[in-house]
Amino acid sequence: MKRFNAYQKNINDFFDDIVIVCKNCKNKALAKQINNNLQITCTNCGYNKLVSDQLNLPNYELWFTTELNEGKLWAYNLDHLKFIENHINATLRERNLEKISNISIGSRLPKWMTSKNNRSKLLKEIAKLKTK
Ligand SMILES: [Zn+2]
Repeated sequence: MKRFNAYQKNINDFFDDIVIVCKNCKNKALAKQINNNLQITCTNCGYNKLVSDQLNLPNYELWFTTELNEGKLWAYNLDHLKFIENHINATLRERNLEKISNISIGSRLPKWMTSKNNRSKLLKEIAKLKTK
């Protein structure tokens, strides 16, 4: 039996390295969180920029995103994507209500993502994203 506990992992655990679309060349670039700044680097074209803080992130497009009829699937990076995959995969989810905080990923995943009907479709999309 698969057991997976998504409720004790905090979204901030994934926030150090964020994979984004380079504004310059549209390739894969990295946004690294350094103190309250984001260091954007693209190894493809050499784009390099330090932006003031993570509030600037919405100006950048995340690399791991895909649109489905039900909504948008997105992840900060590969680890985050794998985490979501594991979460969807888990046939048994542990819910320790006392430990759930508002910012835990488990409680944040929208219902359509965790619904049984969407499971296989989502896992296919995630598999595609992982090879992106
Ligand atoms: Zn670039």
